[in-house]
Amino acid sequence: MMVRLFGVLLLLCTIFSIPLKASEDGYFRLLNSYLALKLHLAENPKDGKLVGAAWIRFENRTGEKVTKIPLLLNPGLKVTKIVATKGQPLPFSQQTKPIKDWPKLKLNAVTADTGQGIKHKGIYEITVNFEGSIEPLTESGMGYVRESLSSDFTIFRFENFGYPVLAKPTDAAISAAGQNQNYYQSATLEVPEGYVPAGNLPIEKKTLLDKRVTYDLKSETPIPFLMLPIARYGQIKRENITVNFLEGGRENAEKLALEAERTLALFTRWFGPSPDRNRLAITAIPEGYGSQRMPGLIIQDEAAFKSASNYDELYHEIAHLWHPKEPSLKPSRWNEGLAMLMQAIAADTLQGTHGLQAFKENRFSRTRDQFTKHADYGTTPLANYGDKGLTDLSYSSGAVFFAMLHDLLGHDRFLTLIRDMQQEFAISGASTGTFATYLMERMPNRKAEDFVEGWFLAGGAGQDIQATESYAALVEKYRQ
Ligand SMILES: [Zn+2]
Repeated sequence: MMVRLFGVLLLLCTIFSIPLKASEDGYFRLLNSYLALKLHLAENPKDGKLVGAAWIRFENRTGEKVTKIPLLLNPGLKVTKIVATKGQPLPFSQQTKPIKDWPKLKLNAVTADTGQGIKHKGIYEITVNFEGSIEPLTESGMGYVRESLSSDFTIFRFENFGYPVLAKPTDAAISAAGQNQNYYQSATLEVPEGYVPAGNLPIEKKTLLDKRVTYDLKSETPIPFLMLPIARYGQIKRENITVNFLEGGRENAEKLALEAERTLALFTRWFGPSPDRNRLAITAIPEGYGSQRMPGLIIQDEAAFKSASNYDELYHEIAHLWHPKEPSLKPSRWNEGLAMLMQAIAADTLQGTHGLQAFKENRFSRTRDQFTKHADYGTTPLANYGDKGLTDLSYSSGAVFFAMLHDLLGHDRFLTLIRDMQQEFAISGASTGTFATYLMERMPNRKAEDFVEGWFLAGGAGQDIQATESYAALVEKYRQ
């Protein structure tokens, strides 16, 4: 299970789930980008075609002078031309090949030759012209990256390399490129009439000409990598929420918009205004493409739109809008445990499901199963899940951890703690060490403090879980 890629649960939450390796943290820091795409979407996805150009302005942060600029593209795309700042063409080579340390991922690896080179911290601009199709990358292990240029649905995102990604063809370099870089981005998208881009670049202008529509898209603030789902979307706009729905989905989307507003109102009451200023777009995607979130945007499996029993995913993703970043190359994703608990608390509060206790017991059992199967899981501190590549556990033992805080503090004190913590670290983010210290200083007694230290920093979760029969017994063990 803990292979390089992620379980379904992880997908619900992560922007870049590609595991990070600290060994190669030199990278090209993106400053601005402009992407122009003309799409021909086809009923038979193999017939889909695109013509694109990407202007990229970046800083060389690799720690050394570079003469060659490495780019990665979807294997269906070929580069036709690369030009530098003043319009001079750069010689380049390209070849579809397996990625080093990730051989199942095959990409078009492009190298442009800058001639005299770019010194460390030097700033450079290139424009890359490319064309072709988008091929699914499911065989890489990213089972959800299924998109092609289909007339039903397509999406441009980091994971499908549908636009040039500035990285060498190695797992480590892709990971480094996938750090949460934030930069200003704009795009022009030309699609057949009726299609709507519903991602993280707001529409500035729409121009209709000869059954084709051109969108000018522009980020209002620096944002992480582009996420651009494209389909014949219908739209519901509310004050804080936009819901983009697929054909036939209006009725469910109305309900979802209402539920999202209720959830935002609830969390705002508990935690204060979200650092994302409470503006949120929720975009339906067909089943199997992997729900994901990034600041201000949730893309969500259509199934979650269909029934109130799937609102858990919505609660979970909305809870993340308040969570501080974890400034680390290999984040432990402790916030997944918190989001899991918050989804259960929200369901209880908003739907009156009374499922919270069962949820806590369920997470306890799941954790015990995982610890039983793999002895080293239980001895790994929660803070080290990122280092050890065990972030899946953040959804199970991480959820038990926050459930315990909920019970040891009591509901109101727990909510106050989470509100204060989120406000404290909204801008700076919180590393695992900072976060653990913050929690320990606010525990009501020594036993609760021991619990936080034991689980989060010392790897005591396994022993505790094996030594207690149930979640309720675990609470008793640490109750004053
Ligand atoms: Zn999540």
